[in-house]
Amino acid sequence: MKTLYVKFIVITTSMMLISFILAFLVSNSYYHQKVKPVNDQKNTKIALNIAAFAKEHPMTNLGNYLENISAVGYQLYLVDTRGNGHFFGERFRDQILPRSTIQRVINGDIYHGILDFPRKTFVTGFFANELQNTIGVPLEHNGKSYALFIRPDIKFLFKEMHVLFGWILLLAISLTILMVLILTKFLIKPISTLTTATKSLANGNYHVNLDVKRGDELGQLSRSFLQMARRLEQMDDVRKEFISNISHDIQSPLSNIKGYSNLLNNDSISKALRTQYVSIINGEIKRLSSLTKQLLLLASLDRNEEAVKKRLFNVGEQIRGLIRNYQWAISEKELMLSFSIPDIEILGDPDLLETVWDNLLSNAIKYNVTNGSIEISMEERGKSVIVTFVDTGIGMNDREAERIFERFYRADTSRTRSVEGTGLGLSIVSSIVKLHNGTITVKSKEKAGSTFIIKLPVL
Ligand code: ADP
Repeated sequence: MKTLYVKFIVITTSMMLISFILAFLVSNSYYHQKVKPVNDQKNTKIALNIAAFAKEHPMTNLGNYLENISAVGYQLYLVDTRGNGHFFGERFRDQILPRSTIQRVINGDIYHGILDFPRKTFVTGFFANELQNTIGVPLEHNGKSYALFIRPDIKFLFKEMHVLFGWILLLAISLTILMVLILTKFLIKPISTLTTATKSLANGNYHVNLDVKRGDELGQLSRSFLQMARRLEQMDDVRKEFISNISHDIQSPLSNIKGYSNLLNNDSISKALRTQYVSIINGEIKRLSSLTKQLLLLASLDRNEEAVKKRLFNVGEQIRGLIRNYQWAISEKELMLSFSIPDIEILGDPDLLETVWDNLLSNAIKYNVTNGSIEISMEERGKSVIVTFVDTGIGMNDREAERIFERFYRADTSRTRSVEGTGLGLSIVSSIVKLHNGTITVKSKEKAGSTFIIKLPVL
């Protein structure tokens, strides 16, 4: 039983067979309990009537009379006291009957062969064409004693209608089997299509053709399958883009390093140029190092919970310390910084959260304008702590603001191009906040500034 198709057919046919056997057993039991005694009584009455008629009409030719009775659908056996027997009508398949039984009937007993016929033959007992399966009554004619055994001739019972019903039953069974064969194929077809689709998906072809119009469970399955294929395609695109971005971001500093170190090989260049080239090379190395660090962090964040080592710590103190570290950069850009940061303890990973504040503050400085301002505030609201970074920097339009949490995304404007960055910072921030079951939102306006709001659970 390999395919679903074969399984389905075997199960349906077995069910039909079992139903047939059960129906046979039930009707058999019904025959033995209800039909057999009625049948016995009916035939006893007929046999007694025949015997009574024979007794009352001594002048009638008994042989002819019984011959006529057999012609209307009976099998008869007449035995006299000396054991001479005569059959009328259709022959009995089995003609054995004990002498004692015959003798008892001649002596006046009634033989109920139909009622007492062995049960083991099931309902077929009714059809058993045997002398034992008869009714025996004493018969007197012309002063002579006989025993008369009769049973209805089965051939007469099966009229045209019965044959017709038999055919109808046979046809119904054959048609049902045929329908099962055809319908099963129809039912299994979408599953085979899905299997083909799965194979093609496994080979990297995401454009699969499925019937999603069906209203049943298979239609639902096909729709979910298509959704999954689309999602996989998107993930594959993201992966390809990610790889091409990394390759580009690694390749460009490497070729810069190669170019400038070749230039350094030239002995004739001035000392000033030499210092400039070395500083460029150092800058590119720094860029590469920060890129690899960020990539490593992203990879560890992708491993979810494993990366987060939570403990209770004072987040207010952490942010204030960070501001102190950035004081020089803030003064250099002549920025105004104000903050209101109370001591609040939260349960989180201090190292990861430090990366969050570091990114947000360095961005607020990087993307700010000379003489701009930065405002940082923190407050506890219910079971959450809310940290807000507001800057009066270059800001972003809505389209850019929507994409800043994507990996490698950098708003491609003349204003950002001059600023160093990898485009990974905010995607790291968003992953860390998510891993702390928090949220991050941004509100920004071009040339006016940006506001980043982070909400984290205290515990
Ligand atoms: P990076 O700063 O390395 O480019 P980020 O992921 O930190 O990468 O930021 C992604 C982009 O979002 C930046 O390139 C910049 O265009 C925009 N951005 C981030 N912070 C700000 C901000 N405070 N003001 C304006 N634009 C910002």
